[in-house]
Amino acid sequence: MNALETVNRYVLEAAKTLKLDEALTRFLMTPDRQLRVEIPIIRDNGKLEVFIGYRIQHNDARGPFKGGLRYHPDVTDSEVCALASLMTWKTAIVDIPFGGAKGGIQVDTKQLSLLELERLTRRFTDVINPIIGPNIDIPAPDVATNEQTMAWIMDQYSRSHGYTPAVVTGKPVSLGGSEGRGAATGLGVAFCTREACRTFGIELKGARVAIQGFGKVGSHTAISLRDMGAKIVAISDVSGGRVNQQGIDLKEALELQAANGSIQGLHGGDSVSNADLLTTDCDVLIPAALEDVLTEKNAHAVKAKLIVEGANAPSTFEADEIFEKRGIHVVPDVLANAGGVTVSYFEWVQNLQQFRWELSEVNERLERRMVQAFEAVKAKAALHQTTLRRGAFLLGLERVADATKLRGF
Ligand code: NAD
Repeated sequence: MNALETVNRYVLEAAKTLKLDEALTRFLMTPDRQLRVEIPIIRDNGKLEVFIGYRIQHNDARGPFKGGLRYHPDVTDSEVCALASLMTWKTAIVDIPFGGAKGGIQVDTKQLSLLELERLTRRFTDVINPIIGPNIDIPAPDVATNEQTMAWIMDQYSRSHGYTPAVVTGKPVSLGGSEGRGAATGLGVAFCTREACRTFGIELKGARVAIQGFGKVGSHTAISLRDMGAKIVAISDVSGGRVNQQGIDLKEALELQAANGSIQGLHGGDSVSNADLLTTDCDVLIPAALEDVLTEKNAHAVKAKLIVEGANAPSTFEADEIFEKRGIHVVPDVLANAGGVTVSYFEWVQNLQQFRWELSEVNERLERRMVQAFEAVKAKAALHQTTLRRGAFLLGLERVADATKLRGF
């Protein structure tokens, strides 16, 4: 099953348990609006090139559509659809007043200059302009997009609507971004790991953690967990990784990442492929790169006692079943990586109020929300004697279905 089939399967299962009407279930599974666009830009060599982009708005029953924008050569409508659906359940699980959306452009950012990326982003903003806005749909960073991308979108949108920082989140702090947004997803993953360790009787101090992906999510997860006393024993990026049971030198990894955009050249331990990292000897495994990396092919070989999904949809449905049978606990993506959208919500609130919060206030509120969401999911799972993932989908679907019914059709 691919990511879209997997998320739909969980939604269907939850809808059945909640005894939701069949037509309502179909409505909640289907995106409200799917936009596919052609994005022409003139390359630096003077030639025209056309890129394909998507913005898929899944559900806005609980508030404006909300979700990231991904730049990757493998972006498809099916992938964006799955990620948009996950956003709907995620925002409901952490109980913030947003719906779910996602966007993407089929592009390898490494092949474009900075000026070409800027032209691509501004042109994409123009073509999605009619369907975004602070009360309509609010994009944010995802794979291979960042604060600079959000600054361009904000600037381009503001040219036709006046100064509108609340149209995107994940902006630079100097342009109305929130303190703490950059680290928020990783910090949220770390809070969930801590709560899961408490719940399942794993000692976090000294726990050996392997993390796939050392981007915005993976790197901040690593720093936060190290600060909580865990030992990071493996990290990787797209070109491979490093495993070191004595502990990875995170300072060197961060310096390499800042200097070269990659952790290659890291000293100590042994090199490890992205595939082998997933089955490396560790207590906690954190996939924080792309989807569908844990499948029926490698799920039997995973050695971790706990998996915390930093990435969206890293486990296929079949892999999840194997983890359940093997007694490996999984903190699902819709809960584990919700720290990012939670602080995006704080950023949006600060923009609307034209008032700034201090980092300590952002992080305290983030911790409270994540712990509350973890407890709510845990309680739902216990009530139905099921996994945290099914508990999370039950909670999310119940809240979205409730809002949809109350608003009427
Ligand atoms: P990023 O672009 O900052 O980092 C991605 C990392 O994955 C990089 O280290 C990259 O080298 C690595 N990578 C890329 N392709 C890979 C491959 N084929 N195999 C192994 N590694 C690969 O992206 P990010 O924002 O850290 O997002 C990572 C995941 O977290 C995605 O699934 C994203 O949807 C999810 N997520 C991100 C946020 C956020 O706030 N950025 C929030 C929630 C969920």
